[in-house]
Amino acid sequence: MIDVAEALLLIEQMAAPLPPRRVRLEAAAGGVLADKVVADVDSPPWDKAMMDGFAVAAADFTGDRSANEIVELEVVVDLAAGDAASLVVRPGTCGRIMTGAPVPPGADAVVPIERAVDGTGTVHAGGRVRLCEPRFRTGQHIGRQGDSFHAGETLLASGTLLGPVQVGLAAEAGAGHVELLAPPRVAIITTGSELVPASTVPARGQIRNSNGPMLAAAVAAAAAEPISLGIAGDKPEPLRAAIAQGLAADVLLLSGGVSAGDYDLVPSTLAAAGVEQVFHKVRLKPGKPVWFGVLRRAQASPTLVFGLPGNPVSTLVCFELFVRPALAIAAGLPRDCWHRPRITATLTTGAKGNPDRPVYHPCTIASSDQSATAAPLPWGGSADLFGLSRANGLMLLPAGCGQLAAGSQVEVIPLG
Ligand code: AMP
Ligand code: MG
Repeated sequence: MIDVAEALLLIEQMAAPLPPRRVRLEAAAGGVLADKVVADVDSPPWDKAMMDGFAVAAADFTGDRSANEIVELEVVVDLAAGDAASLVVRPGTCGRIMTGAPVPPGADAVVPIERAVDGTGTVHAGGRVRLCEPRFRTGQHIGRQGDSFHAGETLLASGTLLGPVQVGLAAEAGAGHVELLAPPRVAIITTGSELVPASTVPARGQIRNSNGPMLAAAVAAAAAEPISLGIAGDKPEPLRAAIAQGLAADVLLLSGGVSAGDYDLVPSTLAAAGVEQVFHKVRLKPGKPVWFGVLRRAQASPTLVFGLPGNPVSTLVCFELFVRPALAIAAGLPRDCWHRPRITATLTTGAKGNPDRPVYHPCTIASSDQSATAAPLPWGGSADLFGLSRANGLMLLPAGCGQLAAGSQVEVIPLG
């Protein structure tokens, strides 16, 4: 039997990031960038009008606030958004320009249409406009080329989660497609001839399948894609067929059937399907019978296979400790995202460990900015999912720690 740390090392060695997928930008929201997005043009791409008005030469305006001067100019061109006239605006002339149009050569500012006086705001090319702009400033109402970003600039780093704003920015930067991290596809099989679905009233000898829905939820919460393959009984053929289907996924999770009972067929059925065992049994409580292996393939990424013990709390603890990092690695996330963060907390009451194995005991964690406390919860063991539901974390009681007194420091994993 190996330790948790050794098991994790083996998982880290076997897991690898999946190849990124190229996705149309319109379908990319919610994805995480596998590659940075670099601008291929400046933004704005050219000097552009930010107001509807008249593109003028600064030389015609004094900017003298007290003068209240009126400047009369000949309108030589009409410019709408999408137009790109090359006509030069010389002193004494101006262009009628709408928001979003390129500022014509020779123009240094835009005077808004509201500053036209004597009813001249409606004049077009060929007419004369009279403008009163006492607060004139060179450059006013012009968005300068490159004010926002320059060609070659990195706008979105790899690892960025794409929301609507990031999608819009990627479009502005010329990214019609983006490379996204691929969320691992995770097949889930629950084994056990005693299992019935949640909607069935169990007869004597039957229990409801809590692990199937719980694992699907845990996978989805870890930003991976669950594929529920239902309940396989403890019979060789249905189990073989379900495993064959599940091995097409990036990760296969099985619950139950990994202990030493007569009907614990999972390890032998996986071996027959070509899955190499990496480890079986880890020194921890709950979750000792956990099994891990890998199906290698010549052309494609390997499938990682976890046989999780059937008792629901064992399943959940093993998911948190072993499956979560494997999914994070496959998803291409950085190392600091592989595990839930751990904190040190002060025990509020005494807690007893196990002589041989570290115990991950359900607890309630209360934390402030400075410190955290943890209270072990009454808990009926690896089948007591209700007990776990009252917890907001797991407390790590090291192997052989004996009875820890209130006030002792323990490591805790907030379950978030
Ligand atoms: P096993 O690991 O198959 O020996 O199962 C251990 C215990 O967990 C047994 O009491 C099973 O009935 C129970 N169990 C197995 N699978 C599930 C499941 N999907 N949901 C709830 N309990 C289960
Ligand atoms: Mg079973």
